[in-house]
Amino acid sequence: MSVKRPTGLHPATIAAQAGGLTDNSTGGVVPPIHPATTFARDEEYVPLVDGNVYSRVHAPNGRMVEGVLAELEGAADAMVFPSGMAAVAAVFRTLRAGQTVLVQSQIYWGTMAWIRDFCTRRDITLVEVEAADTQAFAAACDACKPALAWIETPSNPWLRVIDIAACADAVHAGGGVLVADMTTSTPVLTRALSFGADLVMHSATKGINGHSDVLAGALACRDADAPVWQDIRTDRDMAGAVLGPFEAWLLLRGMRTLPLRVERMSQNAQALATYLADHPQVDAVLYPGLPEHPGHALATRQMQGGFGPLLSFIVKGGAPAALAGVGRLQLFHRATSLGGVESLVEHRHTIEPHTGIPEGLLRLSVGIENAGDLIDDLAQALGQ
Ligand code: PLP
Repeated sequence: MSVKRPTGLHPATIAAQAGGLTDNSTGGVVPPIHPATTFARDEEYVPLVDGNVYSRVHAPNGRMVEGVLAELEGAADAMVFPSGMAAVAAVFRTLRAGQTVLVQSQIYWGTMAWIRDFCTRRDITLVEVEAADTQAFAAACDACKPALAWIETPSNPWLRVIDIAACADAVHAGGGVLVADMTTSTPVLTRALSFGADLVMHSATKGINGHSDVLAGALACRDADAPVWQDIRTDRDMAGAVLGPFEAWLLLRGMRTLPLRVERMSQNAQALATYLADHPQVDAVLYPGLPEHPGHALATRQMQGGFGPLLSFIVKGGAPAALAGVGRLQLFHRATSLGGVESLVEHRHTIEPHTGIPEGLLRLSVGIENAGDLIDDLAQALGQ
């Protein structure tokens, strides 16, 4: 149920008020959870509520989240999924055997591993390219005319910044579709559709939910009539990768503070990156908010209000020094994932030993704690 409200609202207002959703049946200012899987019809066999028949296709709580997300993204439509990878898979399942896809190299390793396997099984040609090199990306598009191209910005865990508009031009010139995984940015920092991406993907498990207690994924589109969007909708309705009502309700609650959390996480990450950049035990800091980062100028144009919660840094002394430092941290949880209110640290080489990750690389997901406390913890763990 939604109430009448002004137009042209800012993200903070849209998010805090969950797009104006309330509970008209009780007057509650919070929308209810709808666990029903099936919906009744009247004596004439017409659904009692237009559009509600069966919850694999008609999920009231999922639709609530989708409405708010579409508004935050400036999208024509959005769909939620039971995980980020389910959203990735829904996109790739629209491809036909014999087609070609162009995928940014060194993205989230799980996405890449799944895409490689899927393309092999489905007889789809996969071309991988360093998309931060805009010319290399354009040349690859020109050469292989991909039906679909996939980018991730800033990328996890390398923090490469990708020029969405330039990639969109290159892909569109060959008639393809550009999909941008914007998990690390969230729509608060970058609305990729406004830069020309056709679809945006999020692991909503991360910043969008922000509390490390919901596994979810999301897609949003610029054109709801586009064949790729129609194919994805049919696939989700029929194959059933649907987010459950409780998860959707929690996600909507988490999203109320999304702009606030992203702002604080970005401020904290900037402070930590600046601190680490001057640390004698640190070889390099990968964070687009630092002026010396190769993607800083582009990130400044493409990201609004901060550079996100994710940063990586390389400790001098390789794996032994990195693991010893991680072991001494007291505030950062030693855990995977990102975008939650609590700070996390990961030794990525332990997780993905064969992808070329430096052995001394530590990835931080910076939360909303006091930045001074986090810096003190890093200082005692790394030694100064
Ligand atoms: N995309 C990125 C950038 C990620 O970091 C992740 C997970 O870490 C995913 C996609 C996959 O999302 P999920 O774990 O929700 O399936």
